Amino acid sequence: MQNFIFDQPAHRVIFGVGAIARLREEVERLGLHRPLFISTPGRSKDANKAAKDLIGMTVSVYAEAVMHVPIETIAAAREAIERHNADGLIAFGGGSAIDTSKAVGLQLGIPIVAVPTTYGGSEVTPFYGYTEDNIKKGKRDRTMLPKSVIYDPALTLSLPTKVSAPSGMNAIAHCVEGLYGRNANPVMSLLAVEGIRALARALPIVVKETENMDARADALYGAWLAGMVLGSVGMAVHHNISHVLGGTFRLPHADVHSVILPHAAAFNRDAAPEALRNVSEALGTKDAAQGLYDLELRIGAPRSLKQLGMPEDQLDRAAKLITEDPYYNPRPVDYAGIRQLLENAYWGRL
Ligand code: NAD
Repeated sequence: MQNFIFDQPAHRVIFGVGAIARLREEVERLGLHRPLFISTPGRSKDANKAAKDLIGMTVSVYAEAVMHVPIETIAAAREAIERHNADGLIAFGGGSAIDTSKAVGLQLGIPIVAVPTTYGGSEVTPFYGYTEDNIKKGKRDRTMLPKSVIYDPALTLSLPTKVSAPSGMNAIAHCVEGLYGRNANPVMSLLAVEGIRALARALPIVVKETENMDARADALYGAWLAGMVLGSVGMAVHHNISHVLGGTFRLPHADVHSVILPHAAAFNRDAAPEALRNVSEALGTKDAAQGLYDLELRIGAPRSLKQLGMPEDQLDRAAKLITEDPYYNPRPVDYAGIRQLLENAYWGRL
């Protein structure tokens, strides 16, 4: 066994169908009187509905969060908080709403209750991503962690297949890299394998029967495990590539993760054989990369950068940006290897 540092920040989770009914209790637990919901435009209706249940509190909804969290959005959210004189935040939605909340919550030193409605995992990680001058950057500080997380599968029934499938693959990506990332450790590896199992079992049902509550609960459970792995184990080449493609080329976050994941697994196949054997076993396939690629076909998740609108003439630039200051990875991250990976990912051929 390799040496490791185990560093999993503690968090409180309320999980279950109908758990959103506990929102008031969680907000009161923190002693909040003037909470502000932070959400994306698409979640505004549900956020307003949840806000109505907080009778007796002075509540407002700010539903302008956007993906990759540009610094201008953080500034606008901060203004909304100051206008409302909010004493706490309710991050309601996917990673875009939660990362925006973490950014402003940290700046202003106010607590967050998170109500995640995708499978991204940001609600249990001590960092957020943001974009500045077209570069995706990150900030880490464990004080930004939400004080409570409410996972209610019923809130994910409305998640369309085109979001469920890539978002689920984004969660699987956290688990895959958690098995070979820096500080991979036996406890997080257990969570990672269980996370892959739960998501691989649930997603094919979720995309066929979007309102199947058991499958939605299974997927959300897998997403929670994946979030813990992401928050605890350093991520590697897959996240490195996805952050550059998302931040600089404005490609949709979860979709990029979906496209890159089988290629990242193939890239690391020989350098991290045990980790990838664990992935293939969890998927019930012979080869991890092929198993991920096949799962994507089955659930209709994106498999090519071309399909996401990546300009082909920017692949050289992307490879340069990725290899300029690479993350830790079990196989050295070299220009030729990454350029080839991007070429394959562009055409969606494994
Ligand atoms: P998202 O939050 O942008 O949501 C995607 C879309 O789905 C949005 O239009 C949203 O309104 C909609 N949506 C969300 N929940 C819905 C529901 N239940 N029903 C119907 N529509 C719904 O997407 P995401 O992939 O969750 O988050 C991406 C962002 O989160 C990126 O900026 C990424 O960097 C960040 N992220 C951060 C972490 C972290 O640990 N800090 C982890 C994962 C993602």
